[in-house]
Amino acid sequence: MLRWKDIIYYAKYSNPEPARRVEKTEEEWRQLLKPLQYLILRKKETEPPYRNAYCRSYEPGQYTCAGCGSLLFHASEKYHAISGWPSFTQPATKGAVKYAFDNSHHMERIEVRCNVCDGHLGHVFPDGPEPAGVRYCINSESLIHKSIKS
Ligand SMILES: [Zn+2]
Repeated sequence: MLRWKDIIYYAKYSNPEPARRVEKTEEEWRQLLKPLQYLILRKKETEPPYRNAYCRSYEPGQYTCAGCGSLLFHASEKYHAISGWPSFTQPATKGAVKYAFDNSHHMERIEVRCNVCDGHLGHVFPDGPEPAGVRYCINSESLIHKSIKS
């Protein structure tokens, strides 16, 4: 389980190793992604709160990266944070996402990116529910929900 101190460590010193890497040029990303996906994943824009696909959706399954298809979050870790964006308590695996300090918009935040393709996903905050106490606040457009049949 990742806690705030682990995330700070990753952002400061060294991120977990990704399982694989996907690298494309900006032009390739622009062709591959829908316009809003491109703005969020590659240009770090933020979608509007509440008016986004997964904010209020609690279907079981998995959330994969809209850029590269990597598994990012399990629906079982999604919770109602009243933030306006999909919120998760943990990534699917330790190495699924990477972290970077982000001082844009006059705020000190920690950015969350896909560890495989570096796509911008959102931010992580130290105000999540116990036991981990962290909240991953993620743009719907950076995610694709997949139902899992067992
Ligand atoms: Zn990705």
